[in-house]
Amino acid sequence: MRLRVLGCYGGSAPGMRLTSYLVDGRIAIDAGALTETLSVKEQAGITHLFLSHSHIDHLATLPFLLDNVLTLVEAPLSLFGPEDTIRCLRQHLFNGYLWPDFTAFSNGKTPILRMEALPCGRSVQAHGVTITPFAMEHAVECHGHLVETPGSSVAICSDTDSTAGLAEILPGAADLKAVILEASFPRRLARIADLSRHLSTESFGRQASCIPPDVQILVSHLKPDCAVEIAEEIRGLGLSNVSLLEQGREYQF
Ligand SMILES: [Zn+2]
Ligand SMILES: [Zn+2]
Repeated sequence: MRLRVLGCYGGSAPGMRLTSYLVDGRIAIDAGALTETLSVKEQAGITHLFLSHSHIDHLATLPFLLDNVLTLVEAPLSLFGPEDTIRCLRQHLFNGYLWPDFTAFSNGKTPILRMEALPCGRSVQAHGVTITPFAMEHAVECHGHLVETPGSSVAICSDTDSTAGLAEILPGAADLKAVILEASFPRRLARIADLSRHLSTESFGRQASCIPPDVQILVSHLKPDCAVEIAEEIRGLGLSNVSLLEQGREYQF
């Protein structure tokens, strides 16, 4: 599979974009930076979008994407997320105040958007890729996503302070090549990490040691103001299978 990292930071600053991944050009996971990185034609080519949770850094560009592709799409965008996220979008985003209700729109050929709550463990298949959500531990209901193609799979953990949900799906993940795991804060801010249900570099180190050593761990969601400090502390852990996730890179798994 081709996994393009459109944005992988836990905040927004010049050169540091919010969380978004594109799988094989057609499937998006989170929508923090879709419209900043993809042409309008590429945006219209996204058929499936999986949101990890309702925090705005993971869906900030969704309203603008829908606006951009309104007249271009020939089938509705299928948006999946945790039940809480779908409810939140209906109540607080597509409510006619913050943004129009795109689920009620058609461009004459097709509705624009369909949304569906997707429980953990229920897979969706699209373009030869299987995506299965799994539970993360965060301040709101949050899902990681196991992305599988024949011969390789990748687990994209979203915001979390634990890999307990990841551990549950690991035995069934065939040919697991990589885990994307967050480290939002440096060690000195471990208390803020705990309070906000994120990992610090300290707790990251503990969680990373639970992942098989032959699996590559890619570090995401660094807070922009602490990114240099976090990167140094991650290197200091001395874990040979751990490296920083590279924004803008297209990984082949
Ligand atoms: Zn986040
Ligand atoms: Zn979050």
